[in-house]
Amino acid sequence: MIVVMRPSAEPREVEQVCELIRNEGLEAFVSEGQERVIIGVVGTDLERVGHVGTLSGVEEVIRVTRPYKLASLEHHPDRTRIGIGAVKVGAGSPLVTMAGPCSVESEEQLLATARWVHREGARILRGGAFKPRTSPYAFQGLGEPALQLLARARDETGMPIISEMTETGQVELFDRYVDVIQIGSRNMHNFALLRAAGQTRKPILLKRGFGATIEEWLMAAEYVLSSGNSNVILCERGIRTFEPATRNTLDLSAVPVLRELTHLPVIIDPSHGTGRRSLVAPMALAAAAVGADGLIVEVHPDPARARSDGDQSLSFPEFGALMDELRRLEYLRPTDVVGPPAAATPAALTGLRERIDALDARLVELLHERARIALAVQDARGTAAHGHDVLRERDVLQRALDTSASGVLDDEELRMVLSAVLRASRSVQRRHAMGSAASQRTEATG
Ligand code: PEP
Ligand code: MN
Repeated sequence: MIVVMRPSAEPREVEQVCELIRNEGLEAFVSEGQERVIIGVVGTDLERVGHVGTLSGVEEVIRVTRPYKLASLEHHPDRTRIGIGAVKVGAGSPLVTMAGPCSVESEEQLLATARWVHREGARILRGGAFKPRTSPYAFQGLGEPALQLLARARDETGMPIISEMTETGQVELFDRYVDVIQIGSRNMHNFALLRAAGQTRKPILLKRGFGATIEEWLMAAEYVLSSGNSNVILCERGIRTFEPATRNTLDLSAVPVLRELTHLPVIIDPSHGTGRRSLVAPMALAAAAVGADGLIVEVHPDPARARSDGDQSLSFPEFGALMDELRRLEYLRPTDVVGPPAAATPAALTGLRERIDALDARLVELLHERARIALAVQDARGTAAHGHDVLRERDVLQRALDTSASGVLDDEELRMVLSAVLRASRSVQRRHAMGSAASQRTEATG
């Protein structure tokens, strides 16, 4: 800590400051400059002189070290990787997706969601049992029966489970049922609850208070860490700003900021962070791009009928599409898709798979043939000709859609495939044009 004195400070005032510092068992190093005096304070408990700024003659107090120690990267340069069953979060482990309903509503709702998100590649199942709702009249959660349902879903799918603890008296209950204990945004400043979370050995997912600075959030983590639990995952879930277009403002810069400050894993909640279904996937992708260690996403079989947070819950196909996109961008590893346990393959299935393999081989040949013709077209137009013929591509797509009325793929799916084919075709033509430009240059210089 550095105490900067006013240029007008009297030697007596400098002495008073030094006396306060020494009386608290700390050391004071006085440095006299041309214009003013500055005093360096050294010791372990600088908070003892936290009020030094109120003394006469003092202009400013600058804190040099961070108020959190156990959470800081400075003190723990090795990043923390947290194991949740077989799942690892943080320290460069692949992106972990946690998904499930905001609240557990029924056995049917939870199990259907658990099976779906598991098939799509989610690694951890979420579900609220005790809901800290803004309104006392809103659905408060099913309580312990919800934890029992979550445990059943874990037994069936093998996915570890996460749920929010709202009271210190629930520690034993949560220790018994869940794999990760969530501390919600509304409770980030509940120091008794943080200390209680420090008593368990279960990993804690600590959500950022919607009005908390990053430093206050890290201090909340410090409560858990200093109470004896070193397994803390930070979760950014949006903060309250002046902007009403989204439920909260998702502070994605928190990820790179935290990377510089702490060794703890950081995940993003794009559901509470935006409050709107249509914004969840874009922000989830952005979170993966800024290097989040994981995502926690609300998913519901019928979002319109959800008892809480339906507006921000993804439907099953929407969650599937998000996972596809994460996989396409290689944020998820293909092996993250965990199918049902391998059973002996029935003969009928083997036959169907052989037909698919043969078709794929033919498709690949057809694609090469199509690309060869695209190159011949390019040569006929002049080798350098390439680029996007929007009208022609639109015709190609339209013709395919017109002739596929009886097919299995719908328009959107067909469009997806054909757009990829056209994109590859443009790429091959571009490469061809580059090649001929290079050979023309060699001829010109040779
Ligand atoms: C939740 O995860 O359902 C929840 C209530 O989150 P938050 O504490 O971030 O509002
Ligand atoms: Mn919710």
